[in-house]
Amino acid sequence: TVSVVLFTSDLRLHDHPPLRAAVEAAHEVVPLFVRDPAVDRAGFAAPNRLAFLADCLADLDAGLRERGGRLVVRDGDTVAEVCRVVRQADADEVHMAAGHSVFARAREARLRGALESDGRRLYVHDAVTTVVPPGDVTPQGSEHFAVFTPYFRRWVSEPLRTPLAAPRSVPVPRSVRSDRPPARASVADVSPGLATGGESEGRRRLGAWLSRHADAYEAGHDDLAGDATSRLSPYLHFGAVSATEAVHRARARGGAGAEAFVRQLCWRDFHHQVLAARPETAVEDYRPRHDRWRRGEEAEGDLRAWREGRTGYPVVDAALRQLAYEGWMHNRGRLLAASFLTKTLYLDWREGARHFLSLLVDGDVANNQLNWQWVAGTGTDSRPNRVLNPVLQGKRYDPDGAYVRYWVPELAALPGPSVHEPWRLKGLDRAEYAYPDPIVDLADGLSRFRDARGRDWDRT
Ligand code: FAD
Repeated sequence: TVSVVLFTSDLRLHDHPPLRAAVEAAHEVVPLFVRDPAVDRAGFAAPNRLAFLADCLADLDAGLRERGGRLVVRDGDTVAEVCRVVRQADADEVHMAAGHSVFARAREARLRGALESDGRRLYVHDAVTTVVPPGDVTPQGSEHFAVFTPYFRRWVSEPLRTPLAAPRSVPVPRSVRSDRPPARASVADVSPGLATGGESEGRRRLGAWLSRHADAYEAGHDDLAGDATSRLSPYLHFGAVSATEAVHRARARGGAGAEAFVRQLCWRDFHHQVLAARPETAVEDYRPRHDRWRRGEEAEGDLRAWREGRTGYPVVDAALRQLAYEGWMHNRGRLLAASFLTKTLYLDWREGARHFLSLLVDGDVANNQLNWQWVAGTGTDSRPNRVLNPVLQGKRYDPDGAYVRYWVPELAALPGPSVHEPWRLKGLDRAEYAYPDPIVDLADGLSRFRDARGRDWDRT
């Protein structure tokens, strides 16, 4: 007997329920990944993610080869390719992880129909990409939680599956041909500092972070220069690391830092359950605020300066330059950059989200769009009108200015926290720094935002 495992956003061998089920059900298994142009057409062909994906596939193939198998890669429509492979290998069943996007659900329904009409079965496994499947915990009278804290209370008390070991052996039938897997080297315009993808690297990072850095996380996760966060987001996005296993190992380790990390993983599930229930919020406001975002030539110019990291606010510019260089940005930087765009510049969150998605290696519709909405005040934040002040935030989360000096080298000679306000320098001193003046006055930005939003604004 033969079974097929269709890999999608779960590019790993450890803690992989569909793979485990397929290995147990059959003598031979076809581990399959389909490069479907429809996924690219949906806006996912960003170079950083394609390069990271290539790493993940190469590592998955290497892991399978160590187990006597190999990865089969096919180019084409997912449903058509799976059916072709099933027929070639004469497989009885296909196993895959449940997906929650509109695209994934439509693909699953089509695949089920095609397989069943041919007398084969599709098994869809839950809790592979998230810890708790969207829709599993709901408040009374609604299909999703709109507020994080009550969701978190329910989420932490859900039973956690014991993570599965990687299978020892994965025998793959010889008859099934593979197209050539994508190579990282063939992807153009990749950020120079992009991390290496793949399960091996993801597992190494998880282990190293838990043993060496978890204790510093609770106090240090907002410290921009300290860089104390796990940097696991791209591995979680591609499923190279299992979120369930990460929770399990963090709990086993214990301590306030590990607990705070588990809470962050819950945010990931939170946004997934919002998007699964309200898929239109990928583009539409979760809570429509009738915002009249600025448009026109001046707004375009501000947007360009923001994208290029030339707003004249050093911590905002540092964050955007980190994004361009690494394809990744510190969470505090994301919050500051997004608040600056949507509130201080009063530009549409969709513009910011689009720029992030074009570069973020962890760029993900649920987490990107809904975090953007959270910051813009159109989403699930219970304080939708708070405005982050980039100078105060810079001094607080980059107190001696090391993060700014690293990413904005024009300002490297400015000592200590003065780096957050280069415009305070006088005359010739100011002229020495080839760094733009602020494109907006913070007080003007704030009053524009207050006028536009009306009542009940507050400030952090
Ligand atoms: P850690 O602090 O080590 O946290 C561990 C894990 O928890 C992360 O890897 C991530 O999977 C999850 N997590 C942490 N914070 C959040 C959060 N606020 N929302 C959802 N999950 C979270 N995260 C993405 O994975 N993809 C995105 O496209 C994305 N876009 C964002 C856009 C904006 C405007 C903002 C404010 C945040 C965005 N985030 C996104 C959330 C967060 O910034 C990143 O997950 C985090 O910075 C990744 O770094 P880390 O792995 O070191 O996080």
